[in-house]
Amino acid sequence: MCGIVGIFGHPEAANLAYLGLYALQHRGQESGGIVTESGRSLHRRAKMGLVADGFDRKILKDLPGECAIGHVRYSTSGDTNPANAQPFLLQHHRGPIAVAHNGNLVDAAVVRADLEADGSIFQTTTDTETILHLVARSKAADVADAITESLGQLHGAFSLVFLVPGRLIAVRDPMGFRPLSLGKVDGTWVVASESCAFDLIGAEYVRDLERGEMVVIDVAGVHSFRPWGPERPARCLFEHVYLARPDSKLFGHSVQRVRKRMGAELWEEHPADVDVVIPVPDSGVYAGMGYANASGRPFEMGLVRNHYVGRTFIEPTQQIRNFGVRVKLNPVRELMRGRRIALIDDSLVRGTTSKKIVQLCREAGATEVHVRISCPPTVAPCYYGIDTPVRDELIAANKSVHEIRDFIGADSLGYLSLDGMTRAAETKEDEVCTACWTDKYPVALPPAQSEQLRLFEKTKR
Ligand code: SF4
Repeated sequence: MCGIVGIFGHPEAANLAYLGLYALQHRGQESGGIVTESGRSLHRRAKMGLVADGFDRKILKDLPGECAIGHVRYSTSGDTNPANAQPFLLQHHRGPIAVAHNGNLVDAAVVRADLEADGSIFQTTTDTETILHLVARSKAADVADAITESLGQLHGAFSLVFLVPGRLIAVRDPMGFRPLSLGKVDGTWVVASESCAFDLIGAEYVRDLERGEMVVIDVAGVHSFRPWGPERPARCLFEHVYLARPDSKLFGHSVQRVRKRMGAELWEEHPADVDVVIPVPDSGVYAGMGYANASGRPFEMGLVRNHYVGRTFIEPTQQIRNFGVRVKLNPVRELMRGRRIALIDDSLVRGTTSKKIVQLCREAGATEVHVRISCPPTVAPCYYGIDTPVRDELIAANKSVHEIRDFIGADSLGYLSLDGMTRAAETKEDEVCTACWTDKYPVALPPAQSEQLRLFEKTKR
């Protein structure tokens, strides 16, 4: 996860970066940061927590200049601590350089071990820092060439924005795992993980960066390069299922439209004879609409989500059934009582939350609960930037669909097929990453890294 933005040549660069991050907050809530450039110096502020809590008018005023990059973080590599908050900023022999990263480098740990053995001292525990060490060591005279050379030594998922004096450099990895779009506001250029960030700052969506494309933006305009050879495409299909905001345009398609089509395909594959279709909010809402429209059954928001749930809450000493899930979701009893419901969710990972939601629906009076999931069973972890549990904790890696149905206590359970999902996203299986559903990884993990991950998974259990 993580969201990134970049602004080049706007008098309100810090403010626009802040608003862009505000729109991308769903991609990461652990920390937020902004780096700006003025007078060939870079200025950085990064805070733990939400962007709105970490920045105010005064802090933004202390970030001068007309160019900025920003980052919101959800950790998939490295711990949650202030040192790991991005963008990273350092001085090297070519001057200051800052970077913000969305994705995950599968071989960063191996490269890092080599660099450390050779004397490099790392300040963070993230994969992203490896890129900066390689850039600093590169003999290339120009920083854009050093970035190209460095990224050529690494593999995995990376959408990146770099800020150096006079230039903003945006890059998407050769397989295009994570999104990155180019837009324009008041005649200046902006980049962002999702187009919803453009809407908030009044920017116009221009195009997606192509996979394997590097865009260098300077006072002369946008210069596009394709420094790496062609690789198979591997856009993350889970972005459409869950991660991206429904008001974004992603990989050339409207997210809400793709989700509705997934719901319609789900009805075709797994119709349920029910009285009402109810989504699990928020990410199940549009698939739920698609399922209801295709089935001709009424659609109701029968579960209400509390959007103000913080990280901590006080649990009453007197035990309340399903308290944990009730904090987030509460059923509307009048919509459930005496009715057979189709419960639409975007994914089913461990199964424990689904089990509680099914119980909530039954306690609210639903006579039958038919669970429908708008993606296939999740059988394998993601190593490309989405935070998924280890394989042993993935219920579908260890149980059949019937066993999962019994575990969550549903009357029936149906998952959307891979074919249905790719049809809905108007793509083909060989154009997207499907590893978490197929266990077929488009970028192999290096053997040493596989061993480290095996040990890591063991300690996480
Ligand atoms: S493994 Fe799943 S979540 Fe990860 S990049 Fe591939 S499709 Fe996306």
